[in-house]
Amino acid sequence: MLLINGLKLDLNHNENDLKQLIEKKLKHPINSFEIKRKSLDARKNPLYVYSVIVDIDNEDKYLSKDIVKYHKENLNAEYIKRNKKCIVVGYGPAGIFAAYRLIEAGYDVSVFEKGKRIKQRELDVDRFFKEGILDENSNVQFGEGGAGTFSDAKLTTRIKNKYIEYILDVFVKHGAKESIKYENHAHIGTDEIRIIISKITDYLISKGCDFHFEEEIIDLDIKNNEISLIKTKKGEYQADYYLFATGHSSHSIYSLFKQKGIYMSKKDIALGFRVEHPQSLINQRQTNNLINEANEYLLRYKDEKGVYSFCMCPGGIVIPAMSENNTIVTNGMSYSSRDSGVANSAILIQVNKDEFDDGFIFLKHYEQLAYNYSNSYKALSQNIKDFMNNELNELIFKSTYPLGTVLYNFNDLFNEYDLKIIKKALLDFDLKIPGFIDSGIMVGPETRSSCPIRINRNESYQSINTSNLYPIGEGAGYGGGIMSCALDGIRIANAIISNYE
Ligand SMILES: Cc1cc2nc3c(=O)[nH]c(=O)nc-3n(C[C@H](O)[C@H](O)[C@H](O)COP(=O)(O)OP(=O)(O)OC[C@H]3O[C@@H](n4cnc5c(N)ncnc54)[C@H](O)[C@@H]3O)c2cc1C
Repeated sequence: MLLINGLKLDLNHNENDLKQLIEKKLKHPINSFEIKRKSLDARKNPLYVYSVIVDIDNEDKYLSKDIVKYHKENLNAEYIKRNKKCIVVGYGPAGIFAAYRLIEAGYDVSVFEKGKRIKQRELDVDRFFKEGILDENSNVQFGEGGAGTFSDAKLTTRIKNKYIEYILDVFVKHGAKESIKYENHAHIGTDEIRIIISKITDYLISKGCDFHFEEEIIDLDIKNNEISLIKTKKGEYQADYYLFATGHSSHSIYSLFKQKGIYMSKKDIALGFRVEHPQSLINQRQTNNLINEANEYLLRYKDEKGVYSFCMCPGGIVIPAMSENNTIVTNGMSYSSRDSGVANSAILIQVNKDEFDDGFIFLKHYEQLAYNYSNSYKALSQNIKDFMNNELNELIFKSTYPLGTVLYNFNDLFNEYDLKIIKKALLDFDLKIPGFIDSGIMVGPETRSSCPIRINRNESYQSINTSNLYPIGEGAGYGGGIMSCALDGIRIANAIISNYE
């Protein structure tokens, strides 16, 4: 097979144009091709740039700077009936992909997830969005699919690793569109990822994976520096390996780990708010409306501390993403159509680990402060322009946040030092995207961008003082986002597989 790079086509081309360009480059007809990468070069004259894979005889005669040999590695795990039991706790991207790979390799796998399956979870989330009644075990953070289910489901990562392709293949095998494998900024949307995750669960059940939904791990015993059993309200369970993929919002499990002496360390976190802008403003500034889709942005400002955009959701909505009663946490979600007409993104300032004793308590302070101020689940809101001028006026447009908002002066949320840096950052963002200040609103607070702790692992990916405990994903401090957490799940499964005797 050959990999052909650097195939450039204008914005209005079709698949046949690409085929013709490949044939022109090879000076030979082809039957079929596979797109390996498609990216947008948005500089002066915007173009799409493709890399494609072609199967053709006499490969050597076509080789050049842009045409190289390509070998597709088989990344599937070898199936052997292995007489070892794995318990996976938490069924977000990290737990899903760890379970998936271990099942495919022939392990006996049980999954414990405190939340519900997606169909029931959807009802609970919907009720919360409409009526403000929160189920602390079934919400945007907790349940089948984890925190990535009611999300934008952007499948982007800066990590270069061959298993990224494996993960995308699994998504496609269970119903995702093929283009996620080659698009630079692949996006599924919450509507589609819910269906895909359900299919993955059904597939795992068909392969013998033993699921325990609505069953929370509430205690565990440690003997001789190993977990000897875990406990739920329904019973006690034992395994050879315990993989904890419990995400960044399950404070109770990390309190339990602390109490049991499992080694953990503090990690930097971030604090901020969401901003919302008319999507048309972002499209105009980013690509001059040339691309017929909701455009993204990525903003970075470096001062004494970093301020940055995070989890940008083009054409999405701001959602209530709390998992505890009497708190407010914002986040972003979008459907596959990305057609809300509003762009939202978190704007966060980094919080260094020496600024707090317990990061969970530090963040909860802001979540409760917001709830107490609002006296409801209505989020705090302010025009960005008013924030800059320390004023409070009616919002220039209504937020997409489904439970409504109350006006709040975000100048009161931050300490003076951070406030100055955030305002400088917003001025800088306004230079990059003119209109960012005058045309935008703030909604918040946003507190759950990462986990404040890391459960330290050794070179075999086990907890450094509890040898059969494998902490994985975002909650363990080894991932952030769907792809990196899924990859961490694979990494740990591979470590277990490679140690199999
Ligand atoms: C609204 C929203 C939008 C997002 N959008 C994107 C996006 O577009 N792209 C992206 O890459 N990332 C996005 N993220 C982040 C991404 O979802 C997370 O980084 C990712 O889900 C973390 O994966 P994880 O498997 O480590 O943990 P989680 O997905 O958090 O899963 C942890 C699971 O463990 C379960 N659990 C916790 N404690 C216990 C216990 N004691 N017993 C049993 N089960 C337990 C929880 O119920 C939960 O289901 C978004 C997050 C949110 C909240």
